[in-house]
Amino acid sequence: MKCVKCGKKAVINLPYASKAYCHSCFTKYYEKRVKKTIMKHKMFNKKDLIGVGVSGGKDSIDLMYVLHRLGYNLVAITIDEGIKGYRNETIPFVKKLCKQLKIPLHIYSFKKELGKTLDEVVKKKKRHACSYCGVFRRHLLNKAARELGCDYLAVGHNLDDEAQTILMNFFHSELDRMARSGAVTGVVKNNLFVPRVKPLREISEKENVVYALLKGLEYDDIECPYVKDSLRADVRKTINFLENKHPGIKIGLLHSFDKMLPFLKENFGKEQKLKKCKSCGEITSGETCKVCDFLKEVK
Ligand code: SF4
Ligand code: ZN
Ligand code: ZN
Repeated sequence: MKCVKCGKKAVINLPYASKAYCHSCFTKYYEKRVKKTIMKHKMFNKKDLIGVGVSGGKDSIDLMYVLHRLGYNLVAITIDEGIKGYRNETIPFVKKLCKQLKIPLHIYSFKKELGKTLDEVVKKKKRHACSYCGVFRRHLLNKAARELGCDYLAVGHNLDDEAQTILMNFFHSELDRMARSGAVTGVVKNNLFVPRVKPLREISEKENVVYALLKGLEYDDIECPYVKDSLRADVRKTINFLENKHPGIKIGLLHSFDKMLPFLKENFGKEQKLKKCKSCGEITSGETCKVCDFLKEVK
């Protein structure tokens, strides 16, 4: 197979785009698309300080690397959930790349900030580990970005993650949550909340793997031990099955969602009056925030 740009031997075939690229044309194409996504959604500019959520997996490692290459002003934020045999394995990759790119790194841990590791939380579990983890992680990323004075928080969600999230929100009829999602999150502006942006949302997982490989980026690809019986894992399998048979469904789903988003923002979530949690002072729509409710649940 040959590169559609220069005719050299292709290293990646992208059936959804009906394109194949060689090493050098693919990395340029990848970086151009990240830049285009940032511009299209007016995410941020070179004057902003961007907090990058970096876990040490391929997506966030690629994100930090590509944003650095594109000349943005970065600070790295890592959340250590306290998952034995998983997060302790991925953090060294974050430290290594931060050192190489001279990006300051700040690690916030569940244990230090919330009093319990995720492993300790799930021992008392009433819900799936991911339900606790997602709430706690989002909370700490926002807290860290705010404390570090970031204008935006960039996360490494790729096209596959986005397609899965859209379907999962549909399945749970979470239209408020959908209204707050998209390329730049949030409906109502609040100074306790740092807007989250997703510069890799149009890039597939496969492209992220190949970009990391071609750039010689090291990351850990072990899977979180708790992912197995999650709804996300099942949705992922289903979407991948469909994408293999019908290339383009993931990007089609994302573009359909983007077209619906103005309607969702207009009709859902706006009525939520954001206030401070009575217990911890963080942002919430109720009397107490979900983090405090969940911590109480697993006391
Ligand atoms: Fe957390 Fe679930 Fe992701 Fe594991 S798979 S890191 S428990 S959200
Ligand atoms: Zn080429
Ligand atoms: Zn709270």
